[in-house]
Amino acid sequence: TKSEKWKEVDLYFTSKLHASDPVMDSILQANAEANLPAIDVSPNQGKLLHLLAKLKAAKYILEIGTLGGYSSVWLGRALPEDGRLITLEYEQKHAKVAEKNIRTAGLENKIEVIVGPALESLPTLKDRGFANFDLIFIDADKPNNPHYLKWALEYSKSGTVIIGDNVVRKGRVIEDNIEDPSIQGIRQFIDLLSKEPRIDSTAIQTVGSKGYDGFVLGIVK
Ligand code: SAM
Repeated sequence: TKSEKWKEVDLYFTSKLHASDPVMDSILQANAEANLPAIDVSPNQGKLLHLLAKLKAAKYILEIGTLGGYSSVWLGRALPEDGRLITLEYEQKHAKVAEKNIRTAGLENKIEVIVGPALESLPTLKDRGFANFDLIFIDADKPNNPHYLKWALEYSKSGTVIIGDNVVRKGRVIEDNIEDPSIQGIRQFIDLLSKEPRIDSTAIQTVGSKGYDGFVLGIVK
């Protein structure tokens, strides 16, 4: 089937282009052992996030939606010595697993998990000393994506990269009368982007080990 082929091709590229990575493997294993849903980014998407953070030479990164910290570690590994990543997670249980994984990766001095609903944590980041971020990865509850985009802009400066995951959802994003609040959240997110003069963006469809989906990539003007 198509999805088996996508998986095999993903495996082909990761086995060729990613050096063996015991830390990343152990994070996925720890997540599975803790029964976290396997909704982390795929290994090659994680690597793409890492490369984008490097390309941007990002020093301050914000992530909304931590889960077990898999994408946090991919991004955190791109940070310079004095770089910081703040990641926001609603579920205490996910945050605990993530903190352990972050220690496994030796990134506990660079990555901080803030537990609670992201919409409550976001307003506190200024007081925590963050005026803006170089890269913002939005990957939490999709119905709140329009709010997350507004906050992302609040914490942006010229050149800030904003990435939003899971915007295709097997193609269902173009079904405009669908009741699913996640699809509606994504469509409102895309509508905001389309009207927003401060950001220049595109969306890319992806296939692979996580099926048919895609992401938005934007740069603040
Ligand atoms: N970025 C992670 C990765 O690739 O490894 C995956 C994140 S997972 C798709 C989404 C996460 O967002 C879940 O852990 C979920 O508990 C969290 N979440 C859901 N609603 C939230 C909210 N209101 N505030 C913060 N986090 C939330």
